[in-house]
Amino acid sequence: MLRSVNVGNRSLSDYHSIISRELMSEIRELAEKLKGKRVCHISATSFGGGVAEIMYCLVPLMNDVGLEADWLVMFGQDEFFNVTKAMHNTLQGDPREITVDEKAIYERYNVLNAGGLTGEYDYVIIHDPQPAAMKAHSQLNGDAKWIWRCHIDVSTPNPDVLDWVMSYVEDYDLSVFHMAEYIPPGNRAPDPVIMPPAIDALAPKNMALSAEDAEYIVNQFGLDTEKPMLLQVSRFDPWKDPLGVIDAYRIVKKKYPDVQLALIGSMATDDPEGVEYYQRTVDHAAGDTDVYILSNLDNVGGVEVNAFQTHADVVLQKSIKEGFGLTVTESLWKGRPTVAGNVGGIPLQILDGETGYLVSSSEEAAARILDILDDPEAAKAMARRGKQHVRHDFLTPRLLRDWLGIFDRLS
Ligand code: UDP
Repeated sequence: MLRSVNVGNRSLSDYHSIISRELMSEIRELAEKLKGKRVCHISATSFGGGVAEIMYCLVPLMNDVGLEADWLVMFGQDEFFNVTKAMHNTLQGDPREITVDEKAIYERYNVLNAGGLTGEYDYVIIHDPQPAAMKAHSQLNGDAKWIWRCHIDVSTPNPDVLDWVMSYVEDYDLSVFHMAEYIPPGNRAPDPVIMPPAIDALAPKNMALSAEDAEYIVNQFGLDTEKPMLLQVSRFDPWKDPLGVIDAYRIVKKKYPDVQLALIGSMATDDPEGVEYYQRTVDHAAGDTDVYILSNLDNVGGVEVNAFQTHADVVLQKSIKEGFGLTVTESLWKGRPTVAGNVGGIPLQILDGETGYLVSSSEEAAARILDILDDPEAAKAMARRGKQHVRHDFLTPRLLRDWLGIFDRLS
């Protein structure tokens, strides 16, 4: 049945030196009006991926400001997750169909989970398509407002699958998307609101690390912290273009022979595509001893990612296709000069030449990396503006404010 996630504690006051006083008081004012409102988040998993990362911070912050927020995770088995994975892919453009049998499996698990949803709530937030049919089967009191929070780009879907999913969603009170471009075509998303994601500045992955501590950690992975280091943190996936990153590094190496490249990517042993692309990346590096390809299998977790990002001379995110690009947010937050693909949510974060550089090819990436290495002072100033941009727009308290604003509007 539905499982409640223990999210621990967070305190908004811990952010007081990080966010603006205006934002803090806006949150306090809205929270005062909404005191005691009961919020239920429902998602498919509490582990891995951007949704879970956000919830572990957002849910305790909602509680801290006076709401009563729960986070429930759906019960599901392989047969259900196979269908929802196919839904995820088709909603992002995979032309395959969802069969009648698959739809029945999806429906069955949603009925089961909806049956387990009891209690009294003012707002129910359904994350992504997996639990979208729960509203249709819910026995909850009629007062609850239902919100569909979509974390994926559904602007170019397989139309039949979208049509089917929207038949559940159009009955919601409101829907939320990362960017205006991600709203599904056809005007069926109810009262769509734009709310980009955010990172938690206080999580181990993003908290302030001293340059010495970061060096100490990076050094343990065999890199020479006296030499320049380029970094990309991303899944081993063609859209993240790790091979293109290696090509850009090779161009840079002609001018800076001691430059090193670290490619960090998480890999699940049950993700054959990731394992295969990891191998292609290793092959492309062709035994170059200045290229370090690391993953969670080498014990690289949140703190280590933080250390590499904090230490890097240049952070790359050479994506060809991207959702929002949280790694870019993380890099900018650490005040690193960042060079990233001009796709997805990246241009919201990188204003070209002002908070980082946007690129569309390995050659362009190399040229921008060279600009940064040639003039570190100018790069530092650019990176500082990037950090300010994230501070203002992409930290969790802003996300909390946006949610409170929505609750207020719906009351
Ligand atoms: N990430 C990580 N370790 C890795 C690779 C990625 O912790 O080895 C994290 C990364 O720090 C970021 C998230 O996974 O928080 C990736 O989010 P993003 O939006 O950049 O890309 P996605 O993988 O969702 O397409």
